[in-house]
Amino acid sequence: MSTIVVEQQQQRRYIENICPITGEVIGRVAIATPQEVTAAVAKARKALPNWTALPISERTKYILAIRDLFVERRDHVLDTIRKDTGKTRTDALLADVFTLVDALTFFCKHAEKTLAPKELPLHFFKTKKSLLYYEPLGVVGVITPWNFPTAFLTDVALALLAGNCVILKPSEVTPLIGELTAELFAAAGLPESVFQVILGDGTTGAALVASDIDKLVFTGSVRTGKMIYRELANKDKFTPVALELGGKDPMIVLEDADLERAAEAAVWGGLVNSGQMCSSVERVYVIDSVADKFTNLVVNKVKTLRQSSDDGPEVDIGAIIFPKQLEIIEEHVQDAIAKGAKVLTGGSRNTDLLPGYYYKPTVLVDVDHTMKVMTEETFGPVIPIMKVRDEEEAIRLANDSRYGLTASIWSQNTERAKRLALRIEAGTVAINDCGATGFGLCEAPWFGVKDSGFGFVHSLEGLKNFCKIKHLIVDRGLLKREFYWFPNGAKSYRLLLTMFDMLFAKGSKKLQAIFRKGV
Ligand code: NAD
Repeated sequence: MSTIVVEQQQQRRYIENICPITGEVIGRVAIATPQEVTAAVAKARKALPNWTALPISERTKYILAIRDLFVERRDHVLDTIRKDTGKTRTDALLADVFTLVDALTFFCKHAEKTLAPKELPLHFFKTKKSLLYYEPLGVVGVITPWNFPTAFLTDVALALLAGNCVILKPSEVTPLIGELTAELFAAAGLPESVFQVILGDGTTGAALVASDIDKLVFTGSVRTGKMIYRELANKDKFTPVALELGGKDPMIVLEDADLERAAEAAVWGGLVNSGQMCSSVERVYVIDSVADKFTNLVVNKVKTLRQSSDDGPEVDIGAIIFPKQLEIIEEHVQDAIAKGAKVLTGGSRNTDLLPGYYYKPTVLVDVDHTMKVMTEETFGPVIPIMKVRDEEEAIRLANDSRYGLTASIWSQNTERAKRLALRIEAGTVAINDCGATGFGLCEAPWFGVKDSGFGFVHSLEGLKNFCKIKHLIVDRGLLKREFYWFPNGAKSYRLLLTMFDMLFAKGSKKLQAIFRKGV
């Protein structure tokens, strides 16, 4: 967590970093000025030609070296993530380091083949070849949030593999891991200025948005995402952007679900990373007939969880990032209680663990959509459970949200679950698993719909998203001239009509069948 302090003499602003576990100041980092951001982008542009000229196999070696450093210095990385975010050691390992190292391994294995030139089979213009080449976009800006300070380095790796230079602006809330990232990438021997970290707050991020970048990947809140989208629209140059924003993951539990598995998943999906995930289970809709049984299972499991500031692997629930986030969680729970919700467990700060920032894992029932806890991003260890009449009501309520990142549906009838999953407005819908699992599947794209953003990252398609496509058309030299070239005339028009009729209208059925098969 961080506070911003201004050092007056040197006119330099600093981030003062506070550990959420102890409330103590643990570091101080200088905030990059807009001039420094502009200079970093200029340096990246200078480094671009040499980096782009490297074969992908060479760029892959650097990314593998970075991966190896995260493996070798794993414990130091975990310690730093823990200090910066207050996560449990397991949360830091699973969602940050494991996810990153696994994804880098996969991307490196497939990058060269994915970005190799492709020939498109042409169904009509048999006298030509159509070739696709994947070229780097240029200088890519990546702005990341605090909740997974290393997991989003997957975006950095994809951009670098594609041959771009990258400027990373990590969250001001996790500056220590930002510094460590710069150190590890430099230790991997990346050529100068191919990858740069600029530390700072929103002003630094805004300077990066305003700078001469060729693409931006932003992960963060809807509020900042919309602000950035407006800024980009006002720039002289079109800048492609991927916006990976907030979520309000609905979990739908049908009467034919494996209730034990669903309850365990609700507890993990709602409370892992202290509920501070864009894809946390933020609201549960359970069919009336099984609601009490499911809720009892959830509450009993939540009561067994261990919340502690200890560093041991047996701790289940860690800290909340900063006091403001604690206030949002409290506000949502209090608002729900005032409107008739019942707290079955938790419902307040864990004052035993002060001066750290801890909120007790909480289960609420008798909730509805008049309450903030069901409609706004709570981003805390709170599981609100709402009874619904039937699957139709569950789908209607799941879709009654500005967000559309992840969702899950639970039923032992997979066909029924699939049919309903396709009606949920979300980028990723899991069946009998948590929506958050989607980020762990690095083969799959990661994206939201509605206010959760657009554009996607992750996956080999995500790698192509860091490229511009160059389309080459090569004439095979079989015809002296094209029949449709000037001059126009009755003869060429008749030829065109004959071809049209043969292929699409009253021509030979056999020929049309062959042609359609080719299509
Ligand atoms: P945030 O929007 O406050 O900040 C995100 C980043 O944007 C930070 O680095 C911040 O310094 C920077 N920033 C702030 N103002 C800026 C501006 N005007 N111009 C450019 N950059 C600016 O978000 P946060 O609180 O750090 O993160 C939590 C949010 O991120 C939640 O809403 C969560 O759901 C979302 N999130 C989404 C995903 C996803 O994949 N969709 C993943 C993780 C987190």
